[in-house]
Amino acid sequence: MSHGHDEHRGVQPDEELTPRARRALAMHELLVEKGVVEDGEVEERARRVQSRSITDGARVVARAWTDSGFKGRLLADARSAVGELGLSLTHDAELAVVENTESVHHLVVCTLCSCYPTALLGPPPDWYKSAPYRRRAVVEPRVVMREFGLDLDESVRVRVIDSTADLRYLVLPRRPGGTEGLPQEELAALVTRDSMIGVSEAQSP
Ligand code: FE
Repeated sequence: MSHGHDEHRGVQPDEELTPRARRALAMHELLVEKGVVEDGEVEERARRVQSRSITDGARVVARAWTDSGFKGRLLADARSAVGELGLSLTHDAELAVVENTESVHHLVVCTLCSCYPTALLGPPPDWYKSAPYRRRAVVEPRVVMREFGLDLDESVRVRVIDSTADLRYLVLPRRPGGTEGLPQEELAALVTRDSMIGVSEAQSP
């Protein structure tokens, strides 16, 4: 039995990095060299984003479902409303919350890259960053949503919203039926990441 080269290549040198990773490393070194960021600052930011999860976003949604005053403030000025819950946006980008109703459904995409409300949802899923989603969400949003299991009635107006680095969007999904009287923690458990992007609805209890 012989070992082919492919089976035992040991530690890979740098040229095995993808072009994208190589570019990111080079950019990191350049930013540190130019004094734009401190060494370690980028790692710290990456750790902070990774440590976030959708829990905070789900809490915001559950609160809006049960407190119409809060919902009004959230739709008008999301940054200060989430501050009421002790949450802060980690980045300078503004946050806007858009409400799904019986008659209008919002779907969020970043056509340019992957802008996303990471402060409330953590890092975006890979499909959100993919070129097919970024393109297709705009040209055929209903088809995309159907692939996520959401078949909207033709009478519902679909609004596709383009996130930017300066303004990120969080969808306030519709409150599922049969949830009257549920405590906020149980409501929050029904709020999925995908429902806050708009590709699906919140779960039913
Ligand atoms: Fe982006």
